[in-house]
Amino acid sequence: MCVNRSWIAANFQFKRNRRGGLNLLYHGYMYTAERRYNSTINWVCSRNSSLTLRCPARCITAGQSNIKLSQRCHNHSPIS
Ligand SMILES: [Zn+2]
Repeated sequence: MCVNRSWIAANFQFKRNRRGGLNLLYHGYMYTAERRYNSTINWVCSRNSSLTLRCPARCITAGQSNIKLSQRCHNHSPIS
């Protein structure tokens, strides 16, 4: 699914983390908000900051139900 680079309607969840930031939960992967715009949010995989993984996966969400994935795949399994 990392090859899908167009906007798709999908189910995802926003989660507020303890530090007041925003997380995104989608297909078992957790993302961290990188930059917020008026109608879209840029996300990076929460494992991006992991020194061992440095997962390159990213995505963009628009509103509550539209998501666009980057062409970079996750390099790890979903968080179960
Ligand atoms: Zn990842």
